[in-house]
Amino acid sequence: MKIIGIDLGTTNSACAIWQEGEVVLIPNELGEFLTPSVVHIEKSETVVVGRTARQRTVTHPDATASVFKRYMGTDRKIRLNKKDYTAVELSSFVLQALKKDAEAFLGEEVVEAVISVPAYFSDAQRKATVLAGELAGLRVERLINEPTAAAMSYGLHEKPEHTQFMVVDLGGGTFDVSIMEYFEGVLEVHSSSGDNFLGGEDFLEILVNKFLSMQNLSKKHLKSDDLQKVYLQMEKVKREFNSVDVVDVEPFIKKQKETVSMRRDDFVELAKPLLQRIQQPVETALRDAELMPADLDEVILVGGATRMQFFRSMIARMFRRMPSANLDPDLVVAMGAAIQAGLKAKDQALDDVVLTDVCPYSLGTNIVNENDTTGNQGDLFSAIIERNTVIPASRSARYVTASDNQKVVELKLYQGESRLTKNNIKLGQISIKVPKAKRGEEQIEVRFSYDMNGILEVDVEVVSTREKYYHMIQNAPGALTEKEIQASKDKLSQLKFHPREDAMNRDLIARAERLFESRIGDERENIRQALSWFEGEIESQTPSKIENATQEFSRFLEELEGDCLF
Ligand code: AMP
Repeated sequence: MKIIGIDLGTTNSACAIWQEGEVVLIPNELGEFLTPSVVHIEKSETVVVGRTARQRTVTHPDATASVFKRYMGTDRKIRLNKKDYTAVELSSFVLQALKKDAEAFLGEEVVEAVISVPAYFSDAQRKATVLAGELAGLRVERLINEPTAAAMSYGLHEKPEHTQFMVVDLGGGTFDVSIMEYFEGVLEVHSSSGDNFLGGEDFLEILVNKFLSMQNLSKKHLKSDDLQKVYLQMEKVKREFNSVDVVDVEPFIKKQKETVSMRRDDFVELAKPLLQRIQQPVETALRDAELMPADLDEVILVGGATRMQFFRSMIARMFRRMPSANLDPDLVVAMGAAIQAGLKAKDQALDDVVLTDVCPYSLGTNIVNENDTTGNQGDLFSAIIERNTVIPASRSARYVTASDNQKVVELKLYQGESRLTKNNIKLGQISIKVPKAKRGEEQIEVRFSYDMNGILEVDVEVVSTREKYYHMIQNAPGALTEKEIQASKDKLSQLKFHPREDAMNRDLIARAERLFESRIGDERENIRQALSWFEGEIESQTPSKIENATQEFSRFLEELEGDCLF
């Protein structure tokens, strides 16, 4: 049985497989390797994923969702066509689409996948990803950190011993920095850092705000579909700034009265705070790994937003060398996930590389804060597994009772870096009975074991009575109960997916609808007529007729679109 590697990205997702000693990228139903992580739910409760759904962002904003990876592991609901969905459910639609693409490409059923997650994903987010796989009918026995996957596709294991790498991943909505070393057949992540709320979309936001302010407009002034159009147009401007200094934006919405000249320098100036936010995790990762920039042999760029020229220049300045970007930064993670899937399936074609990973945050418990005389500070955090510990890891620590005749120790479990527990994320709690004694006399031994899949096991032993407690973290924030999972499965089973064969035609219709909305007068009328004709030809159900119509209609749209982005 084949195992596929999946990069479940914030903006785009991709999928690949290890076959006959090499990575083979899997095209989607439109023949593309990148599938936008966008979901549209039609009135008929039919799910549309990918490029077609992205077209619908403009025409049907209330029924289309994107960038939901940010809400993985939270119980935030996203409303589409009058029904609520979680990020897990929406992600499962994307995974289902990739699974179908892989099955069509390979000609066999696919039931297992290795899925990548950002190194900074919390327990809840990792579990949410595994669950999304399960809802999509995929067994996810292994998650892989995105930088590890990227390093594998750059063949870290074929470099000389002690090669030190930094992987800098700026995607649509997340930023990750990881420092790795290849040594004695082991790929080691030394440190990782990042920002879960920083990505290419934030740079886009800057351009959108700049454009609106140049027109004395604000978001409140625009209808939602006009605002979506501004986002699409500014995405295009952002990419043009990689090669030109000034972009003239002709009027494309009613409220825009004149051509607007946007300058790259202004963009770079406005983006300075974001560039500073990028520098900080880079410095943290270096400090945690006890390295200087000059110690690194290579800097690898991952994620579509690393194509921004001024970002590349900044990285080059920081490290005094050009970063490596010879593989497609949007596909390296999927490629690495496929290499990992190949390893997992024990395909002998790839050298056996043992991977180690790190825990991206500290895990620990609460201790009494003797200095908290006002009661405002609360408990202190005591880390048992420190951030950047190589995993799987098992560490223990001893704690003593805090008051005389204490009967119970309320052991609270946290993840985070703050000195005070109230600023960290609570993962669970165990009540431990201890014999009555003087303060400090009773001891408990607490062992934390953390594995590759982000599961935290806590073993506690009361030293005097030898009584043991065991707790596995399942109730991480946002995690679902079995009953909730079943309810989710039932809800999703009512939805339909379009047959694959329709994909191209559906995409053409979505494109035409979007163009129809963006044009006026004769052009609009022409689109209306061509669209009716095309829909009529499809209904004829005669394959040769449909094929000719598809080609003709596609040419018609291409001419109309001219230099449009999507
Ligand atoms: P990802 O999550 O890796 O798919 O990242 C997608 C992000 O990369 C989006 O924010 C895009 O705007 C950005 N991106 C993709 N291509 C380019 C480009 N040529 N120039 C600037 N940004 C880009």
